[in-house]
Amino acid sequence: MVAILILIILGFYSFHFPHSLKHSNKSTTFQSLFLSSSSNSTISSYLRTLTMHPHLAGTKSNSNTALFVLNHFTSLNLKSHTTSYNVLLSYPLNSSLSIHLTNGSFLNLPLTEPGLDVVHAYHAYSPSGSVYAKAVFVNYGREIDYHTLGVDVKGCIVIARKGGGLGRGTVVEKAEKNGAAAVLIYNDEGDTWRNGFERGNVMKGVGDPVSPGWGSVDGSERLSLEDNEVLERFPKIPSMPISADVADAILSSLGDNLVPLEWRNTLKSKGVISHVGPGPTMLNFTYLGEKKVSTIQNVFAVIKGSEEPDRHVLLGNHRDAWTYGAVDPSSGTAALLDLARRYSILLSSGWKPRRTIVLCSWDAEEFGMIGSTEWVEQNLINLGSKAVAYLNVDCAVQGPGFFVGSTPQLDSLIREVTKKVKDPDSKGVSVYETWSASDEGNNGFHLLMCITEKIFLSITLLSTPITGWQNMEIHSSSAMLPLLEFGAF
Ligand SMILES: [Zn+2]
Repeated sequence: MVAILILIILGFYSFHFPHSLKHSNKSTTFQSLFLSSSSNSTISSYLRTLTMHPHLAGTKSNSNTALFVLNHFTSLNLKSHTTSYNVLLSYPLNSSLSIHLTNGSFLNLPLTEPGLDVVHAYHAYSPSGSVYAKAVFVNYGREIDYHTLGVDVKGCIVIARKGGGLGRGTVVEKAEKNGAAAVLIYNDEGDTWRNGFERGNVMKGVGDPVSPGWGSVDGSERLSLEDNEVLERFPKIPSMPISADVADAILSSLGDNLVPLEWRNTLKSKGVISHVGPGPTMLNFTYLGEKKVSTIQNVFAVIKGSEEPDRHVLLGNHRDAWTYGAVDPSSGTAALLDLARRYSILLSSGWKPRRTIVLCSWDAEEFGMIGSTEWVEQNLINLGSKAVAYLNVDCAVQGPGFFVGSTPQLDSLIREVTKKVKDPDSKGVSVYETWSASDEGNNGFHLLMCITEKIFLSITLLSTPITGWQNMEIHSSSAMLPLLEFGAF
């Protein structure tokens, strides 16, 4: 079991701006206790339990993870509760994709990972549809790509690779605008992950599409699926993720126009694509899905502050996953659960945080940040007056490197904290030193000073009315333990 990130939030102002020497000594003792309580084995066991089964939002197995998190919090004597919402989710029923070559042969292409009992590859909220049409490659599917291509894609099935700064929903939207009949999206990752499918949603905006602006609690109003406000959240043409292998099978058979030079240089699957179509290869693509009102659950643990109980610091992570979710999001949830365990140790030793700490385990994030958005909508007034900061941890473990994004108010805090953490990959060096010497660090240092996409995500996670908050999102290496001694608040 690889080592995992531990994200620690402790009373920053208590530790760093002590009111008295006595207070300072006490804080240092608690800080040491907190650090010495870290444990690989507990995080490892949490991660194992969370990833035993695929846990897609709205399914029984994801309710079981909610129960697991709730039981964990309550077993630690933390004040805990669950909030449930009935929201519109989207699931696949049936799908197929076949390639038809000019010599009359055809081949059915795989639409899920071999040997895994996981939901078929799909784009949540894609409409159902069936299309038999020519394939055409549109690079990243940006407007400039359609311009460069200079080919009429009306009625075609466009193949786009992920990247170029576009979200998958925007790729579908641009294809629709250009008259395409359907969209297939793949990850152009070169030699890695060639059989994998990147599931995702293609809905516009965040939150439950049938309760825009208010929490979808029991008995609340719901818009009809035919309501324009709902309809405009969904694309009009079907789409689907495909694997890199499936993409190669299609793209290597295309004729007609040559690949534009400016695309060729950045293609990882070099040599596979010489022409972009349209055709002569035909694709037969069918997607049948259903939109279904399903119950989701957020789980919370609240540790009441001793000096400023009405100021809340929130630390959250989503819990639902497209499949097993070992990285996204369970590596973050395992860290969150261990954080709770260590808080509990501190509490039983007489520690009290200065401000109230709320640990949040969100549901249905993958479908469009639905669990967190519904909760914010339900508690908007309360949060507007009490919330001080929101910290998000999602993929706590995803390869080497340290990545963080925040609103500028937390900039110096992040620097100070990373200076205190030893880099487990390099002896005698802090995370700060490794990070600042890296390209990512150099970029990160700049990013910290401005509004980044990650910050935008963090803000939207808790909806725009909370833009006054301090927000942060952290990703880190598998080998960093403990990564961030976060003396916050
Ligand atoms: Zn995630």
